[in-house]
Amino acid sequence: MVMAVRLARSGLRPEEEWETVRGRCNGCGAVTDMEVLDHDYAYCPRCGTTNRRVTIHLGDDTFIAMAGTE
Ligand SMILES: [Zn+2]
Repeated sequence: MVMAVRLARSGLRPEEEWETVRGRCNGCGAVTDMEVLDHDYAYCPRCGTTNRRVTIHLGDDTFIAMAGTE
């Protein structure tokens, strides 16, 4: 987890490797495309907050909700 954040911030990984999810950041309050770190976390590129995320499936639609910050 910590390593993933460090890699994201240092820009060592090519951007195309990141899956992104759209959600509201608990850190800055903006709805933005966040970088998926793993199954449970997404990283906000605007303010650098790591959000705990949950995936909600409703019919054919998938929503990402940010459940809190670490
Ligand atoms: Zn943010």
